[in-house]
Amino acid sequence: MISFNEPIFIHTAMDYLKEAVQNKKLSGDGAFTRRCNAWLEEWSGAEKILLTTSCTHATEMAALLAEIKPGDEVIMPSYTFVSTANAFVLRGAKVKFVDIRPDTMNMDETLIESAITERTKAIVPVHYAGVGCEMDEIMAIAARYGLIVIEDAAQGIMSTYKGRPLGSIGDYGCYSFHETKNYSMGEGGAIAIRDQDMIEAAEIIREKGTNRSKFFRGQIDKYTWVEAGSSYLPSELNAAYLWAQLEVADEIYDNRMRIWNQYREGLSPLAEAGRIELPFVPAYCVHNAHMFYIKTKDLAERQKLIAYLKENDIQAVFHYIPLHIAPAGIRYGEFVGEDRYTTRESERLVRLPLFYNLDAESVDYIMEQITRFYKMN
Ligand SMILES: *Cc1c(COP(=O)(O)O)cnc(C)c1O
Repeated sequence: MISFNEPIFIHTAMDYLKEAVQNKKLSGDGAFTRRCNAWLEEWSGAEKILLTTSCTHATEMAALLAEIKPGDEVIMPSYTFVSTANAFVLRGAKVKFVDIRPDTMNMDETLIESAITERTKAIVPVHYAGVGCEMDEIMAIAARYGLIVIEDAAQGIMSTYKGRPLGSIGDYGCYSFHETKNYSMGEGGAIAIRDQDMIEAAEIIREKGTNRSKFFRGQIDKYTWVEAGSSYLPSELNAAYLWAQLEVADEIYDNRMRIWNQYREGLSPLAEAGRIELPFVPAYCVHNAHMFYIKTKDLAERQKLIAYLKENDIQAVFHYIPLHIAPAGIRYGEFVGEDRYTTRESERLVRLPLFYNLDAESVDYIMEQITRFYKMN
């Protein structure tokens, strides 16, 4: 069976895990966490990046930093992972879902304004498949209405929009290092903080509401409880595992991109024949080969294709069920305007196996099977 995903492992991770153990420092914010933070800051240009226990938690931190309160409204696409919405629902906010663009599967920036009310507090663009949302328009709307922008850049490490790294454009950016992402520490994530004056608040929330980070830097002589906070820092073991990958980030990027391009070239005859659609990447977006998906004619054809591939030992998978039709989505959210594309396009989408070191022969085999399916159907 060719799995949809296999967790990435870079052999130096074993040395680094050993080093973390020998350092006798397994809790958070040791040498490996600092290295990861610095690497991420260098790449993103964000004022500060802090490793977190997940992207879910990074988004929760962003919701706390944005001071989201009961009754506030937050605008986001319905075509996303539950964590994008949960972070704000946990703070008592109402979620306003807007439709996506059929080309990139990202939130349709032209619909955001119609969802704004006097209760709106934030916009949460999700960079699907590591392809940037229309950030210039989104930032302009946010500026006009005084809204906070929190980027769900869970899939966006190493991607840029008009030369700017995803997650570094809005007030906050949230990344994931979950096992299914390009760079992974099992469970983990990071938050990017764009503005200098929010860094201290972020450090406090992440460290159980204490000013412990300041204490460790020697800026104060004892630390204390100063705000409501939680524990959002990952263990050094997780950071050590991730560091092995960040050191060779370009090599991992190239490896994935080679697979992505192989899919795109090999499947283009089917796309040209009008049988399937391939991912679209705007000219000013550099993506990170996080995902290769195709779109079938409709839901029935997609289910048939997934079943056919499974019979041939290939695990292909669909993706998000729109949040606005989920029980919690109905309770905590509301779709603004017409669902023209969210449901329809999500039903057509199927993701193909793509992970570090997936070999070219397997990709050829997968494409052969897809081509055969379309010859028979
Ligand atoms: C993976 C993902 C998340 C959640 O990341 P975790 O690190 O597992 O919490 C959130 N949003 C999107 C768009 C994702 O792809």
